[in-house]
Amino acid sequence: MSLLARAVLGPRLRWQFDHWDEGRIDRHQQRRARRLVDDVARRSPWYRGLIRPGIPLAEVPLMDKATMMAEFDRINTAGLHRDELVAFRIAQEHDGGNETYPGGYSVGLSSGTSGNKVLTVLSARERDRYGALLWARNGLPRGLTRRRVLFALRANNPAFTSVTRFGVTLVHVDYFQGVDRLVELINAEELNVLAGPPSLLRLLADSHARIDHPIDAVISYAEELDPGTRDHIAGAFDAPVGEIYQGAEGMLAASCPAGRLHLNEDVALFEFEDAGDVLGSARRVVATDLYRTTQPFLRYRLGDLLEVGGRDCSCGSAFRLVERLHGRADAVLELRGASGGTVRLMPDYVRRAVDRASQDVIEYQAIQYSADLLEVRLLLAPGADRTGIEAEVRRNLAIWCGRAGGVVPRVDFTGCPPERNPRSGKLIRVRREFA
Ligand SMILES: [Zn+2]
Repeated sequence: MSLLARAVLGPRLRWQFDHWDEGRIDRHQQRRARRLVDDVARRSPWYRGLIRPGIPLAEVPLMDKATMMAEFDRINTAGLHRDELVAFRIAQEHDGGNETYPGGYSVGLSSGTSGNKVLTVLSARERDRYGALLWARNGLPRGLTRRRVLFALRANNPAFTSVTRFGVTLVHVDYFQGVDRLVELINAEELNVLAGPPSLLRLLADSHARIDHPIDAVISYAEELDPGTRDHIAGAFDAPVGEIYQGAEGMLAASCPAGRLHLNEDVALFEFEDAGDVLGSARRVVATDLYRTTQPFLRYRLGDLLEVGGRDCSCGSAFRLVERLHGRADAVLELRGASGGTVRLMPDYVRRAVDRASQDVIEYQAIQYSADLLEVRLLLAPGADRTGIEAEVRRNLAIWCGRAGGVVPRVDFTGCPPERNPRSGKLIRVRREFA
């Protein structure tokens, strides 16, 4: 991140979060959206044929992952070629390098859980903006000055790398490393902040006794964080647990000093589509990045379901709250309707059914194979009452299915360990195995 981004952009982003009211956010979004549509309509070969400058954002066609990847060469405004960027990124991963592509572009290749990889590219300026956003909104307590961070991510590389910039040290490590190795690294490098997916943070929490110094803060990302897991991690480390919600499309939300998740409404504009949630208001997210033009994200349909709330947070920010991250749209359970047809049950209700059954559930996974069969894998603490916990999970599931107007499928409990997605390495706790 350039000095300018750190010194000017970061504080400005923080100020906006603290001080803008709803009207200001709205005016900013409308102004940026107009500029973005004009710019993209002129410079992107793909959009040039589709939209004309000056049309409202709402008239821009929706974009999805498959189209983004298929038409990447024509969508981007820098004349970049998908296959060359992918080859470049893969070679970097093999060598453990992290260089920029000629022209100063950062290339990312996220392994989507549903298979096809998503290529992302940022210009130097866009990278600065992202760095400033991460500086301003990262879920860490603001008073925390010493920041030596274990940054666990899927790197496809066993080596760890350490980078120190502006007083923050990030130790990047692949999260497929064993917990013993990570604990060693945390001790040797005196890391006081742990950032990673909750399934890994949970394992580290269970090994906290072997960490020889206090952990000051924990940041969760990449997987849904259950309230039970959050409490477990916070309790083990006696530290606040923040959250970042991030996709290939950028950093969409982060937790505030009061511990709640706010959408980054000054950086992205969000629209929501109905997702058939009969019990709550989980909706599918459509995001427009208001600043990126090298690879524009205009009305991009995410696979994520979330429940948005109001703007009434005790931290004082008027940025819209995310009440709950429900998971992926393709993880929604499909049940037989009690009065015919199909009824959908959002993954979060399944998570709640298990999470609230007992303190002794260490990890779990629910896999739906058909409308009539659900497997629930339970990893329990030693000495736990398996029969009692299974009965409680079954009872909770019956309540949620009933409220949704659906028929409870047969539930088979097993002690099989939950499996990570082989492509992304993520632990998807609720998933559906049929279309
Ligand atoms: Zn807040």
